[in-house]
Amino acid sequence: MARLFNFSAGPAALPLPVLEQVRDEMLEWSGCGASVMEVSHRGRAFVAMAKQAESDLRSLLSVPGDYKVLFLQGGATQHFAQIPMNIARPDQAADYVITGAWGKKAAAYAKHLCAVNVAASTEAGKFLDVPDAADYRLTPNAAFVHVTPNETIGGLEMHELPAVGDVPIVADLSSTILSRPLDVSQYGVIYAGAQKNIGPSGLVILIIRPDLVERAPASLSPIFSYKANADGESMLNTPPTFSWYVAGLVFKWIQAQGGLQAIGERNQRKAAHLYDFIDCSDFYSNPIARRARSTMNVIFRLAKPELEAQFVKQASAAGLDSLAGHRDVGGMRASIYNAMPEEGVHALTQFMGEFARTNG
Ligand SMILES: *Cc1c(COP(=O)(O)O)cnc(C)c1O
Repeated sequence: MARLFNFSAGPAALPLPVLEQVRDEMLEWSGCGASVMEVSHRGRAFVAMAKQAESDLRSLLSVPGDYKVLFLQGGATQHFAQIPMNIARPDQAADYVITGAWGKKAAAYAKHLCAVNVAASTEAGKFLDVPDAADYRLTPNAAFVHVTPNETIGGLEMHELPAVGDVPIVADLSSTILSRPLDVSQYGVIYAGAQKNIGPSGLVILIIRPDLVERAPASLSPIFSYKANADGESMLNTPPTFSWYVAGLVFKWIQAQGGLQAIGERNQRKAAHLYDFIDCSDFYSNPIARRARSTMNVIFRLAKPELEAQFVKQASAAGLDSLAGHRDVGGMRASIYNAMPEEGVHALTQFMGEFARTNG
């Protein structure tokens, strides 16, 4: 069986050259006579690799030198809880902007730990648009404003950050990090589960402004504390070594592609090609407000929803895999992260055209 064009939302496709290098180094890595999974995370080879990965990530994203870059665990979901534990003082509320399922879950997980104010939500409109600037009800002196700039399930993206004054923005960038250039200095905290655009699941990248690292309460157990994790260089305990190593290879691959500017232009072309095709078709449609369309997760519906299962099956037989939408929203979803080549998106629109001609 050949590899398919994999449109999975996550865990998602990895670049082929990265997988090939992983294969080639599987038995003997970096002169260790063992695989990267079999050596100490405190040994010279692993520590050198880990430092290089951090430095490559810093240079790709132009991370300001005083920000901490942490390689953590628990998925983005664990940090829905860890963020308020670390950053909200006991007398402070946190503001949440809710534009989809992940932001809603982040707020629900935070409620156990601090007062949560929904500063804006588009749930009443079924998360088909982003809030207008006038819709925000921000809390003065909030600990932070949490946003989910790209809602992976709903296929919706906030292309501009809200104006929040001096309150730090905390952003779940799980499904957009490294897909284009990013101005890290606009954020207090950026965090992302690895399995969309970085590497294997289990790893979380968290980038945090220095003053916010210091907010971790002394009463917090070190394992949950960003300060303790930063002081321990993300090695308080055994990190997810294999995921960290693959992430490092992905960073090198992005550099070889010309960095985030080049990757971003390619991603823009991929999304434009797919949305243009959908907009020109009377068989497919996208329900999201144009200003809020996701560049990474393109959802679409069929004029005949009863043909969805058939669409998914035939697409898979044609080498186009994992196109079913999330179970909560239905329809179709094509996730077109960095590792999806332009040919894959062209193959998809060609298949969609044929399917519409046969069944429309
Ligand atoms: C995938 C995803 C998550 C969940 O990540 P886990 O690693 O499964 O916890 C959270 N937020 C966003 C935006 C995601 O895309």
